[in-house]
Amino acid sequence: MNWLWTTDALIEAMNGRPFGQMPEGVQGISIDTRTLQPGDAFFAIKGETMDGHDFATAAIKAGAHLLVVAEGKLPALGRLRVPMIVVPDVLVAMEKLAESARARTRAKVIAVTGSAGKTTTKEALRHVLGMAGLVHASDKSFNNHWGVPLMLARLPQDTDYAVFEIGMNHPDEIRPLVKMVRPHVAIVTLVAAAHLGFFSDLDEIAAAKAEVFEGVEPDGAALINRDDPRANLLGTRAREAGVEHVLGFGEHQRSTYRLINCVLNADHSTMTARIGRREVVARIGVPGRHMVQNALAVLGAADLVGADIDQVALALGSLPAQQGRGRQHRLAHGDGSFTLIDESYNANPASMKAGLDLLNATPVEGEGRHIAVLGDMLELGDHADELHAQLAELIVDTGISHVLLAGPHMKALAEVLPSHLAVVHRDEADDLARLLMDTVQPGDVVMVKSSKGIGFSRIIETVLEKY
Ligand code: ATP
Ligand code: MG
Repeated sequence: MNWLWTTDALIEAMNGRPFGQMPEGVQGISIDTRTLQPGDAFFAIKGETMDGHDFATAAIKAGAHLLVVAEGKLPALGRLRVPMIVVPDVLVAMEKLAESARARTRAKVIAVTGSAGKTTTKEALRHVLGMAGLVHASDKSFNNHWGVPLMLARLPQDTDYAVFEIGMNHPDEIRPLVKMVRPHVAIVTLVAAAHLGFFSDLDEIAAAKAEVFEGVEPDGAALINRDDPRANLLGTRAREAGVEHVLGFGEHQRSTYRLINCVLNADHSTMTARIGRREVVARIGVPGRHMVQNALAVLGAADLVGADIDQVALALGSLPAQQGRGRQHRLAHGDGSFTLIDESYNANPASMKAGLDLLNATPVEGEGRHIAVLGDMLELGDHADELHAQLAELIVDTGISHVLLAGPHMKALAEVLPSHLAVVHRDEADDLARLLMDTVQPGDVVMVKSSKGIGFSRIIETVLEKY
């Protein structure tokens, strides 16, 4: 049997105590009984609101081979008579397993952090590196104190490339995570006013992102967005952290992975990039200027882990758009159709700009209009209203004629948008969905974007159900 972990290896890695009749091994690691697969080890993690120990029976029913539980819970769980590994603290045990996984792999490891574009870049790396070997990449946005060790613990031994997303909304979050990941390449996609509520300014955010360099392997590389206003600060931090190779990607002249030219089309882009003396031409299968930037980072990281650049460039052409991150739907309406751009996954000032640029760059048909459906950007603290109002600058000089808004902070934008635009504000996302369906006409291009917590994915669902 090809186990992900033998039980012996699990016990040794976590320094745990076996209890009951142990299986030979496990095929996966799970912390959630809803997604648990038969053969998994279930780690009973205690979260803020839930305690995994309460799901022990559900885990066994779902086919868990064994449970990893806290010492203190043994009196209550012992009567279940199922195989368990008992540890002082389950999350710490998962971190130890993560370290073991990292120690036993020979994979080239890439870490991706930044204020936007982490998942997009990580998924693009999964796609392009998949042409060259076996890839293990984080699921979804599993990028925090449990997501990163979980994804590491799931790392199969025979993987060639491993890509981990690392996120944060506070200082000192990335450091311990990247020390587990120990990347050969650490990417910072960009620094922007995300989670500004927890920081005093963008320099502080940049410094928190720069923690990612503190875990880079000897002879490893920092790959920094050279077009970001805080590129120098990040570069300095990378050198201070002892990173051997500090490289940039972007349009900036001093980028190692330098954009020479790009052409943005409705459904894809093409770019010419320079790497040393080489010129690489690539088609990028997902549209948007921000995707060109992400593609440069992908090209750079793939090059740094030794992948074949021509193969990578070719693979960029078949990138799939991710749900909620620029996926386009062409929907029949009356005699024609309209385009719905699903950007509903998340929003902050940087990604709002990316989304509005994408909307603006997507051509309408006939009499069609550009319609922006925007919801609040969360976690911006005292700056929230100001940052929402600033979106007006991005909207006014574009072809966007209709702006449908929801959420308390979007009121600040509604108040400053000029009167020649059709602007409507509603309190609830559901009202906005109805309004959108009354408004949309054949030929239109509609882009829907907001922070996750606002629930704009419901607008997408409602529209997709109707058309
Ligand atoms: P989270 O912190 O929620 O996990 P993330 O960093 O993983 O976010 P993605 O999910 O990749 O970010 O992308 C979210 C949105 O950010 C996309 O829908 C797009 O609008 C925008 N985006 C993606 N890449 C970039 C980029 N390079 N620059 C600016 N915006 C971007
Ligand atoms: Mg993400």
